[in-house]
Amino acid sequence: MTRKLHPATIAAQAGGFVDAASGGVVPPLQASTTFVRDADYALLRPDNIYSRDDSDITRLAESLLADLEGASEARLFPSGMAAIAAMFRALPADARVVVQSGIYWGTTKWVRDFCDRRDIALTEVDSADEKALKAAVSGHRPHLLFIESPSNPWLKTTDVKLAADLVHAVGGLLAVDSTAATPVLSQPLALGADIVMHSATKAIGGHSDLLAGVLAVGNADRPLWSAIKTDRHDAGAVIGPFEAWLLVRSIRTLPLRVERMSANALVVARAMEAHAKVDAVFYPGLSSHVGHAIAARQMTGGFGPLLSICVKGGAAEALAVAGRLQLFHRATSLGGVESLVEHRHTIEPHTGIPENLLRLSVGIEDSGDLVADLEQALG
Ligand code: PLP
Repeated sequence: MTRKLHPATIAAQAGGFVDAASGGVVPPLQASTTFVRDADYALLRPDNIYSRDDSDITRLAESLLADLEGASEARLFPSGMAAIAAMFRALPADARVVVQSGIYWGTTKWVRDFCDRRDIALTEVDSADEKALKAAVSGHRPHLLFIESPSNPWLKTTDVKLAADLVHAVGGLLAVDSTAATPVLSQPLALGADIVMHSATKAIGGHSDLLAGVLAVGNADRPLWSAIKTDRHDAGAVIGPFEAWLLVRSIRTLPLRVERMSANALVVARAMEAHAKVDAVFYPGLSSHVGHAIAARQMTGGFGPLLSICVKGGAAEALAVAGRLQLFHRATSLGGVESLVEHRHTIEPHTGIPENLLRLSVGIEDSGDLVADLEQALG
């Protein structure tokens, strides 16, 4: 068929995969770490030598993710942090980077430590503040600008096109952690970003049963991308075949899950906005959200599973609400089929996260059940 297929079709059919050996519509799980040569010492399959970087199932998962992301190439890593680390490790020794402030704490913590160890000049900026972003990029002329949109746990939205134009004007590249947006709702590469990153542990995996990360690029000829691929191949931050197989299984339902999670999250956000015991709701799908116009421009089909609420009171009240929830599991992470609640202040007490903030990851359950659970917990 010559027709350009929609993401839901590509995903559901795993890109039209049929196993040539068995006729199966599900790819086989090949665990072999090594691949044989014939009597003339030629490889039976020239692209399969040793599984540190040669794996059919990983290549299939990467090509599906590249298709969904509108990328020319994608590479998987054993976790989201491993993907971020591979990108920063590929920067030159004297690099300058500008990184969004108030993003996933694990990223901030690792990037600060890494830049310090490697003498990389790091500037942190609230990239949702256009004036501050412009000043940081023109003042520091970064090799790499790294943003997260929507951000975790503040749900700030950064104008990806503006960020790309600004960093390109000083000769740098834009990387976007698009984990909370998923490849279904947003394609940062089409907006001008050079690298898109996801913690595939979240919605892409979607069942809270695997760790993975992905980087994808529009232009595969850039030296930074070659350096990232060499680093993965040589340093060995590769995903195992079972995780890659699970990812392919998960990607088949990704559009469906994201659609349902986003619809549920909007229902929950609206109910929380109207609740007397809630001081603030951060969700880009709400028209009251400061970044709603930008989010509406750069996300289609919904605003993702992640939102944060500030309950009336302080840490004790927020923890009591979390403690009374019966359906939302009290657990970290996001993007799974089951709803989760997290008191981020407990995890990162010195980073300015309000004591009364609860981060919610909304799953695919019945939205009425989820709202009822929150309402009974709020009292
Ligand atoms: N980026 C975001 C936005 C995240 O929320 C996380 C994890 O929570 C990561 C990156 C790191 O991903 P992983 O836990 O797969 O290493």
